[in-house]
Amino acid sequence: MMLRRELLTAEMIDPGTGDLVRTTVDVRRDPLTGHSSRILPERGLMPASDFDLEAFARENQPSCPFCPGRIDRLTPRLPARIHSGGRIECGEAVLFPNLHAYSSHSAVSVYSPRLHYLPVGALTSRLLADNLAAQAAYARAVMAAEPASVWASVNANHMLPSGSSLFHPHMQGIVDGEPTTFQRLLAEVPAQRFADYLDAERRSGERYLGDTGRIEWLASFAPVAPAELRAFVPGICSPVELTGDLIGELAHGLALALGGYADMGFESFNFAIYGAPPGTAGYPLNLRLACRSNLKPFYRSDSTFLERLHWEGAVDLAPESVAQQMRGRFRT
Ligand SMILES: [Zn+2]
Repeated sequence: MMLRRELLTAEMIDPGTGDLVRTTVDVRRDPLTGHSSRILPERGLMPASDFDLEAFARENQPSCPFCPGRIDRLTPRLPARIHSGGRIECGEAVLFPNLHAYSSHSAVSVYSPRLHYLPVGALTSRLLADNLAAQAAYARAVMAAEPASVWASVNANHMLPSGSSLFHPHMQGIVDGEPTTFQRLLAEVPAQRFADYLDAERRSGERYLGDTGRIEWLASFAPVAPAELRAFVPGICSPVELTGDLIGELAHGLALALGGYADMGFESFNFAIYGAPPGTAGYPLNLRLACRSNLKPFYRSDSTFLERLHWEGAVDLAPESVAQQMRGRFRT
């Protein structure tokens, strides 16, 4: 497989020196969905966090509905036909319906009621595994009650710039009869193309991070968001099939990647684990993980007209340099 890219050159006259200045923009095409992305010369678009997140956490904690003492009273419960207990608990993780539904089945799961302040670097494999297990159990419960709801995804908005309306860290699950746009696009990709993409990245080595056993990790060739990583879980195609060791392995990879983000100074991220209907032949369950702008007053959003309205990524962190900063974590 050829990974498609084209170098564009922009010219301008420097306002200070009057010299002709050329800038290169690397336009790449995602080999799976065809989305394009612009890799810009590094210009500090994503500054490291200098915000006192812990002080902000203390400020907003008194009214947090996910903290101990309030979570039982203020969060909704699952209908009995989905789960008789009303909430799903795995380790410290607690899952309940989203008060503001995004689909016919929308769930929120906190890593722990006691962890109101949970910086990216403190997201351990244990916390991630328990939360993923709660979401997988939820997707299984929904599909058992409603067999037509075959599209499941597990997602995260971490910190306000990523779209989270509540500070207290959590994941979000969606199970529905219809896919999201990206679930549909990915499920339409022929199985062979996933294999060819992984093969091309393994051979080039420029963006390939490694495997954690069964699951393979790489920096996206054509990222839709900054410092974007992808993981591929062969042999299963839906979060409902995430069980036991595989959950632990996925959580371990996520913890490695998030530790890398923390080192790079990023405190906000999104991820999406895109499920296809169970039994979709050759579809590997796969995820995208990307960092978002850091929280502080008057911050610049990393999501511009290009991302939102053109569906085109524009980042100044080259995937190869992201891979270089991450790789060591996946190879020790
Ligand atoms: Zn809280």
